[in-house]
Amino acid sequence: RQASLPLAISNLKAWYGEVQALFGIDFTVSEGEVVVLLGRNGAGKSTILRVIMGLLQRQSGQVLLQGREVRSLRPSERAHLGLGYCPEERGIFASLTVAENMALSPRLGGSGMSDDEIFELFPNLRSRTRHLGGQLSGGEQQMLAIGRILRSGARTLLLDEPTEGLAPIIIRQIEQAITALKQRGYTILLVEQNLAFVLGVADRVVAIENGLVVDNCPTSEAERIEARLSKYIAV
Ligand code: ATP
Repeated sequence: RQASLPLAISNLKAWYGEVQALFGIDFTVSEGEVVVLLGRNGAGKSTILRVIMGLLQRQSGQVLLQGREVRSLRPSERAHLGLGYCPEERGIFASLTVAENMALSPRLGGSGMSDDEIFELFPNLRSRTRHLGGQLSGGEQQMLAIGRILRSGARTLLLDEPTEGLAPIIIRQIEQAITALKQRGYTILLVEQNLAFVLGVADRVVAIENGLVVDNCPTSEAERIEARLSKYIAV
C-alpha cells in the first residue's frame, strides 16, 4: 500500500552540525491529501520539509516518493519526480518581473500547469506580470512562489508557512487555491501556525514537538479539535 503513496517517511533523523533536530519522524501523506505540520518555533517542522526535498546533508531514515526511496537523489532529481518546495522566505527574484520569475521555473515534465491555469488559480497575479518581484505584496509573492512549482510540474507540494505575515483576505485566497489544488488531486504537506487556516484546509494534522511526532489526527474525526491542537501552537 505504501508503494502508491505520494509520500511516506519513516524514522527520519536530521542534524545541523552536531545538533540533532529530528529524532525519528514517521508519517505518510496520501494522494490528494492536505497534511499540516503543526508545532512551536524550533519544533523541527521546516527541517522535515528540507529533509524531504533533500536539502540537508546530515540525515538518516527513509523518504519514499511514490514508493521510491530517494535518499541518494539530489533536490533537482526529486523535483523531476514531481516534488516541489516553497521555502519560508519564498525565493522570489526581486529585480525580475513576475513573468521572468515564472519563466525561470523549468518545465520538468508533461504535467506542469500552463501560465494561464496558474493565473486562474491566483487571479491577482495576472495583472502583475510586468511588475518586479520586489514590488509585489507578501501575498502575491507567496502566490508566485506556489505558481512556479506548479509550472515545473510538481504534484506533491511542500509549503513552509504560506500564510506567514499575510492579511486575512489574502490568507482566504491562499486557502481557496489550496482547496482547488486538492480537488485536482495535488498532494500537499504544509507547515502552518495559523489554526483557523489549518482547520480550513487540512485533512490531517501532524503535531511536532522537539523533533518528534506527538499527535497525528484527521481533522474530521477529532472532537473539540481546537482544544486538542491549540497546545501545539506558539503562544
Ligand atoms: P520555525 O517555525 O521557527 O522555523 P520549526 O519547527 O520549523 O520552527 P526548524 O526550523 O525545523 O523548526 O528547527 C528545528 C531545530 O533545528 C531548532 O532547534 C533550530 O534551532 C535548529 N535549526 C534550524 N535551522 C538551523 C540551522 N540552519 N543551523 C543550526 N540549527 C538550526
